[in-house]
Amino acid sequence: MNDPNYRVECFACRKGHSEEESITACVKCNSPLEVIYDYDKIAERVNKQLLKTAPLKAIKYLDFYPLRDYRKVISMDEGGTPLYKAKRLGKKLGLKNLFIKNEGANPTGAFKDRGSMVEITKAKELGKKAICVASTGNMAASVSAYANKAGIPCYILVPEGVAIGKMSQTTSYGGRIIQVRGTYDDAATLTQKMAKEHNFYLAGDYAFRLEGQKSIGFEIAEQLDWNAPDKVIMPMGCGTNISAVWKGFKEFKGFDFIDSLPEMVGAQARGANPIVEAVKKHKKKFAVLDKPETVASAVSVGNPLDGLKAIKTITESGGFADDFTDVEILEAEKLLAKEEALFVEPAAALPLAALIKAKESNKIKGDETVVMVMTGSGLKDPLTAMKVMPRPPSVEPDLGEINKFLDYGYYNVFAMSNLQQKPLFSKLPRIEELSEKVKKEFGLELNPSDAKFALLEVRGFFEKGKKPTKSDLQYILEGLLRRPKISDRKLIVKNYWIESNKHDKPRAKVEIEFFKKKIVEEGDGVGPVDAVINAIQKAVKKNGLSFKLIDYTVEINTKGTDAAVDVKMTLQDAKKNKIESVGTSPDIIAASVDAFEYGYNALCQKSKK
Ligand SMILES: *Cc1c(COP(=O)(O)O)cnc(C)c1O
Ligand SMILES: [Zn+2]
Repeated sequence: MNDPNYRVECFACRKGHSEEESITACVKCNSPLEVIYDYDKIAERVNKQLLKTAPLKAIKYLDFYPLRDYRKVISMDEGGTPLYKAKRLGKKLGLKNLFIKNEGANPTGAFKDRGSMVEITKAKELGKKAICVASTGNMAASVSAYANKAGIPCYILVPEGVAIGKMSQTTSYGGRIIQVRGTYDDAATLTQKMAKEHNFYLAGDYAFRLEGQKSIGFEIAEQLDWNAPDKVIMPMGCGTNISAVWKGFKEFKGFDFIDSLPEMVGAQARGANPIVEAVKKHKKKFAVLDKPETVASAVSVGNPLDGLKAIKTITESGGFADDFTDVEILEAEKLLAKEEALFVEPAAALPLAALIKAKESNKIKGDETVVMVMTGSGLKDPLTAMKVMPRPPSVEPDLGEINKFLDYGYYNVFAMSNLQQKPLFSKLPRIEELSEKVKKEFGLELNPSDAKFALLEVRGFFEKGKKPTKSDLQYILEGLLRRPKISDRKLIVKNYWIESNKHDKPRAKVEIEFFKKKIVEEGDGVGPVDAVINAIQKAVKKNGLSFKLIDYTVEINTKGTDAAVDVKMTLQDAKKNKIESVGTSPDIIAASVDAFEYGYNALCQKSKK
């Protein structure tokens, strides 16, 4: 063990702490702690020439970390992530020197690994028997991977509903997840108590983590040929990372490795913006937000542990801060993927939302060197991205169908936002009005038969008492274009009635037109949808084609109990022909009946061939 060349003290009142005693907050004033170095001692060991010859990785800066036993270092070769020149995006936004630091390229897909390397090494130095950590997901994945490498069990407290990629990663690494019915901030407080009670190592946004994450700043400087950029734009949750990167630049400047310092720009989600609010009001302290809410789950933090440091970072560096709506964040995520083929999670797209606005308002100028830190990979949260991407259509294995699809320009139509929630029509449009609206909003010329079907679906919305929004109309059109074209409808569902109560099986009566014959049939099922579908199936099977319903899924596109649902069904006939069909409506039964009717007719058409 080396003698330490650092001490831990309170960021606000400067009270000293031993590293065993407290790694969370000041025992006197509860402010965050920070690591202070004896830089003369570091200078004895490092110089620019030495650093230049070592490959770009976080562990090359080992002497800048508060570690005492280098033999215990737990590393997964984190850091050394690419700094891309974003030429196309830069051109679009009018910036000559725009760069992206792609932190998604870290071992677990987010920058947290840089901090985990230091923290878990520290846990090992201190001989801790277990680690605990609170997380919105990425910290969980990262800490559990490093704990696994160190051979130390790891408990992770998360708010319910963590993004699927992060959850499956964490459990795979052996992290022991406990879901907390509350916010991330509730989980953080609970984890602190848990660490104290059981003498576990408390990982998270505390003083040691920050030290590891400052290597982002070191690397950016090296990758820009030992220069600081003019601006560094970063997302902020707890505010740890932006403070870390700033500290990295300041240390390099202190050693004369670079001549200048960047201005730090922080971006938060509108629904989780305590740091931005404080900066805008020129306050040193932030007001805690009780119930943060945003699609950018990685920054859904209301009580940022390093908020004070982040505020100081932004003011001291002469930067600024701003917040963005969920729509702006998802638009930025899409734009980044489109212009730079870079797929990031929503939180990581915040810097681009910030850049667009800052460029428009001239807070950032075209000739400045700007680095956006894109903090995590899109694979972490694929379902959120899917909500704003067009869904791939299906066609018969037939070149004619491919050509029809190409003529439609499907992907030109839907490569756009569907998050606008204002109604498009105040009353049921006439068919010409609908076609015109589709042309105006989507640039799509509907043929008369498609227009007729689109109108039917729009009417379905009005009948259910919902005025369709642009995103509803997009789902209708997508469904229409994804559907097989039916020349002859054998089955038409005329009407249905359902009886359902708390204690009995739901019963349904249906009236259908089947091969031009009117049939009335009844059926029951475990739920209302099941009952209606069973009744239709019964009627159809008596005198029609034999088939099986092999898959049924329901997707809810937006929030709210009046949201349109997308029902997808797969039907299969005796010859194993399969048809996938979709129905969209704010009423799940209507959507299911619709999907079934189309699926059945398409299967009839296919079976005949
Ligand atoms: C943790 C995280 C952030 C926020 O970083 P803080 O240090 O909490 O400010 C941003 N983006 C991603 C992808 C993260 O995982
Ligand atoms: Zn203090």
